[in-house]
Amino acid sequence: MVQLKDQYELFINGQWQAPQAKKYFATINPSDESHLSNIAWATEADVDLAVKAARNAYENVWSKLSGAERGKYLFRIARLMQEKARELAVLETLDGGKPIKESRDIDIPLACNHFFYYAGWADKLQEAFAGQQIESLGVAGQITPWNFPLLMLAWKIAPALACGNTVVLKPAETTSLTALKFAEICQEAGLPAGVVNIITGYGDTGAALVVHPDVNKIAFTGSTAVGKQIQKACIGTDKKLTLELGGKSANIILEDAAIDQAVEGVINAIFYNQGHVCCAGSRLYVQESIAAHVIEKLKFRLQSIYVGNPLDKNTDIGAINSKKQLETIEKYISLGREEGAEIYQPACQLPSKGYYCLPTLFTDVAQSARIAQEEIFGPVLAIQTFRTIDEVLQKANNSPYGLAAGVWTDKGARIFGLSSQLRAGVVWANTYNKFDPASPFGGYKESGFGREGGVHGLSAYLKITN
Ligand code: NDP
Repeated sequence: MVQLKDQYELFINGQWQAPQAKKYFATINPSDESHLSNIAWATEADVDLAVKAARNAYENVWSKLSGAERGKYLFRIARLMQEKARELAVLETLDGGKPIKESRDIDIPLACNHFFYYAGWADKLQEAFAGQQIESLGVAGQITPWNFPLLMLAWKIAPALACGNTVVLKPAETTSLTALKFAEICQEAGLPAGVVNIITGYGDTGAALVVHPDVNKIAFTGSTAVGKQIQKACIGTDKKLTLELGGKSANIILEDAAIDQAVEGVINAIFYNQGHVCCAGSRLYVQESIAAHVIEKLKFRLQSIYVGNPLDKNTDIGAINSKKQLETIEKYISLGREEGAEIYQPACQLPSKGYYCLPTLFTDVAQSARIAQEEIFGPVLAIQTFRTIDEVLQKANNSPYGLAAGVWTDKGARIFGLSSQLRAGVVWANTYNKFDPASPFGGYKESGFGREGGVHGLSAYLKITN
């Protein structure tokens, strides 16, 4: 299904180019620690070449095309991605460790849909911003994380190109392969050289892209710590910036909720993609009168979760993305015990090789506990109880983050009441982790600013004047 090369170069100006420093790093399969390939490590000089290529393509080709013409390229890319969907799904799972049923049914179809969606907008930008003057920005520098590699690429590249910008994208170092496959798709689609450039590397590569003086826009998804560094680096420049950072999202079950549906929703909210989800429902608040019943059902449900080989279609929880991330999660699990919370993990045999973590529930968690305040980014749920709506609102909003939230109740009025007072960019009601290209996504507070998706996602790539 997947033909891997021994070595991948940088994709600059429509061609594969060796990094100037001739440095490469290994990418491995986190499910068995096997070596997959070697990837070029771009330095400042390579970043400069990529930005120059993007600038040249912007000035001479892409900004001169009509929206309808740009849209044709985007439709072509979307169709090619659909044709190669199986290959892309296997590649994503091999490189990142996520279950194949998720990459096959969610990541890849959603990534294709993003290209289809923004292809449709390319010739209707003026309608989207009627009465306002709009202009493309120029060269966009984009930095993506390892949890949804191709999907985050689509969230960033599709609106940028639709709006007439050219891009230089740096994928996360543990998951570069689908971005490199995407570069091949751009070649196959006949995209003019330099419109999309993919430069692989570590954080230093991303940092060089952020400070490059000829980049007009930075779009970043990743940790709050790196987001803050990027914001500081952009202060005093006229670079437009969007940051999509971490989260510690509250999932709230009221006593009138459909319990079985809510339990399934909680499982999806925290264990989807091993919990490597910025909007994961990692804090569960259950109304006290039903708490014992809900926790019992959650524990029972955990016993039938299958943790193992991500390429097995039955797998619910695949491999943790990297050894480093597994160590972080394990550190938090030990911390939860030390903080006095009660732990529950199902009896389950983990594979002997690879990076795996059991799904974990913590009950009796204090609001001040670090496992209730800090982003763990793994399959670990901190459960607390509450008595009144005011109490749960206070607890849910008592977080430095504000990315997403979930509300489970039978009453529409309660949904509207709670969702209007929760300080979160997205609030799901009686469901969780549902995404659509037409729907904007982004955070409050330390979860970042700016929106991706929908019409809002267009404005992140345009200069708009009244
Ligand atoms: P990072 O924020 O370090 O990585 C995200 C991206 O930024 C990667 O492409 C990374 O490159 C790049 N990067 C790293 N340092 C810099 C820099 N100084 N300037 C520009 N780009 C940089 O996340 P981590 O991989 O370290 O994950 C740590 C934690 O971040 C997780 O445990 C989780 O809590 C959170 N996280 C949140 C995500 C979200 O969706 N909100 C996504 C990923 C992580 P490279 O990886 O190649 O070094």
